[in-house]
Amino acid sequence: MIPAAYAQLDLEALHNNLAIVRQHAPHSKIMAVIKANAYGHGLNRIAESLKNQVEAVAVARTDEGMRLRQAGYNRPITVLEGFVNKQELDAVFEYHLDAVVHTSSQLDLLQQATVPKQISVWLKIDTGMNRLGFRPEETLSIYQQLLHCACLRQPPGLMTHLANADDVADSKTLQQIELFKKTVVGLHGEHSIANSAAVLGWKQSHTEWVRPGLMLFGCSPFPGKSAQKLGLSPVMSLHSRLIAVKHIHAGETVGYGGTWHASKDTRLGVVAVGYGDGYPRHIREGAPVLVNGLTVPLIGRVSMDMITVDLDSQPEAAVDDPVTLWGRGLPVEIIAQAAATIPYTLICGITQRVQIVES
Ligand SMILES: *Cc1c(COP(=O)(O)O)cnc(C)c1O
Repeated sequence: MIPAAYAQLDLEALHNNLAIVRQHAPHSKIMAVIKANAYGHGLNRIAESLKNQVEAVAVARTDEGMRLRQAGYNRPITVLEGFVNKQELDAVFEYHLDAVVHTSSQLDLLQQATVPKQISVWLKIDTGMNRLGFRPEETLSIYQQLLHCACLRQPPGLMTHLANADDVADSKTLQQIELFKKTVVGLHGEHSIANSAAVLGWKQSHTEWVRPGLMLFGCSPFPGKSAQKLGLSPVMSLHSRLIAVKHIHAGETVGYGGTWHASKDTRLGVVAVGYGDGYPRHIREGAPVLVNGLTVPLIGRVSMDMITVDLDSQPEAAVDDPVTLWGRGLPVEIIAQAAATIPYTLICGITQRVQIVES
C-alpha cells in the first residue's frame, strides 16, 4: 500500500538532467552533489542510479559518506565539509572518503595522522563566499604543507565555491573565478569551481571538475528562468490524495484561525498533505495544487497533515482522487515562489513520513 503522501522519483529525468550537464560542460568530470539525502530524493537510491554515469559524488558530512559506503557504494565520494575532529578523520580513512580541507585545524589533524593509508583531498580556497576555505594569501603555505603530509595522495585538488552564480549579471562571479585562477598559478592539482548555476551560466568556471547538485534534480538555479527552458525535468513529484470532499456555505470559514471566508457556497476538498510532510506552512493562499491533473487554488491555512482546496472547478472530484503538490505538471519553482522560498528547501524538506517510490 502506498501511503497517502508519497514522492515519486523519475530516474529517467535524472539521467536526462545529467546529460544536460554534459552538454554544457563536455570537457569536465562530474562530481554529482547528493548531500542532504540527495536533496530529499534518497541518498542510496540516487547514488546507485548515478553510479556509472558520474566520476564522483559529493556529500556534505562524513556521516553521509559513511552511510553510502555501508550501503555498498564503491565509487569516489567527496565530503564537502571535510572532517572536524580526529574521529571523523579516522572515518575518512576507514571508509576511503575524499575530504575537503578548508581550515587549519584540519591540517593539524592530517599532520598528526599516523594511519598507514592515503586519502585524496581538495584544498578549498575562499575567493569571496566567506564561508569555508583558506584566504588566497595563505593558500601557497597551506598547499606546501599538504604536499608534505605522507597520508595524502598528491597533489591535492584545488577548489572554490561561488556565492552569486545564480545572478548572471553579477560581476562578483568573474572576480571569484579570476582570483581562484590567479591563486593557483604554478600549483599542480585538478580544479573545481562550478555548481549548477555556474555549469549553466558561467563557462569560464568549467575546469577539470564541475559540481552540480540542484540541476540534476530538475530544478532551475536561476530565479527568473524555468527548468523547462533549461531542458531540465523534475525528478521528484510530491503526490497525495483527496480524503474528503464537502460543501460549505457562504460566510463560513475554513481551517485554523478561520483565515479563509467563503464568499459563496463552495465545494471544498481536503488533501492528505501538510507541513508534517514538508509542504510549506507559509505558502500564500491561492497557490496552485493539481487535483486530477487540473489546477485548483489552496484555501485556508496549511495544517500538519492536511490542506484544503477549492474544488468549484471540479464538480466530479471525489475521495481518493490523485493530487500533485509539485513536480511533473507543477514546477516546484512555482510552489517555492508562492512560499517565498527556493526549490532547494522544498525538495530537501520532505519528511520521513513521505514514502519515496520509483515510477
Ligand atoms: C551544494 C554545493 C554544490 C552544489 O550546488 P547546487 O547549487 O545545488 O548545484 C556545489 N559545491 C558545493 C561546495 C556545495 O556545497
